Amino acid sequence: MITHVLDSMNEVITNNYDQDHQAIDIVPKDKSEPNIIALDGGTVETVINNVKSTNHKSRGLATYGNYVQIKQNNGKTALYAHMKHNTIKVKEGQTISKGDIIGTIGETGNAYGKHLHLEIKNQNNVKENPLIELNKKTQNTSKTNTQKSTKTNIKNNVKSTQTKQSDYLNAPNYHHGSIVDGLKSIGINSSYSYRKKLAENNGIINYKGSYNQNIKMLNLLKNGKLKKV
Ligand SMILES: [Zn+2]
Repeated sequence: MITHVLDSMNEVITNNYDQDHQAIDIVPKDKSEPNIIALDGGTVETVINNVKSTNHKSRGLATYGNYVQIKQNNGKTALYAHMKHNTIKVKEGQTISKGDIIGTIGETGNAYGKHLHLEIKNQNNVKENPLIELNKKTQNTSKTNTQKSTKTNIKNNVKSTQTKQSDYLNAPNYHHGSIVDGLKSIGINSSYSYRKKLAENNGIINYKGSYNQNIKMLNLLKNGKLKKV
């Protein structure tokens, strides 16, 4: 994860994106109660801040508990759910910047344990895997981002010459779970549009950046079998 969404910067994903859960759930690595920070700048569309407790019988929007919805400057919509009662720091209509504190992690609504349920809708109002946003390198180098992306750039420069001669991309030294980071580790464009081209070129049809599609692509990459575009 390159873009942080907790001010503790120790995010762990406990529930991935799939058709039944079109969002990701995130907790801090320790038992702390961090603040949730904005993935990107934008305008606050919705603030619900009056839900006092967990309710496993809630339905519809009430399942989110206290939540904030932000229309991001990139046209996408981000929804941050289950926040602690009365901790939300933003107001409807307010313009915010990337990294601004939204509220504190909690378990209001239909939540099991304190976590952030993060949903992203793309420009066409279709839910997409939030990892696309979380793994995106942005030009806006907020304090939380600068350090990590500098490190990545250095790594890229070192490794980018290794694979040039082949028709396949290969990242045998990458041992983690992110196709985006895997591509970055060998200095390859990891943007969504480029991954879509890679997917098409490797028989992964109708690429939407889903967890399963990304894992498929990652396995090809780790095995040196990801055909170049
Ligand atoms: Zn969730």
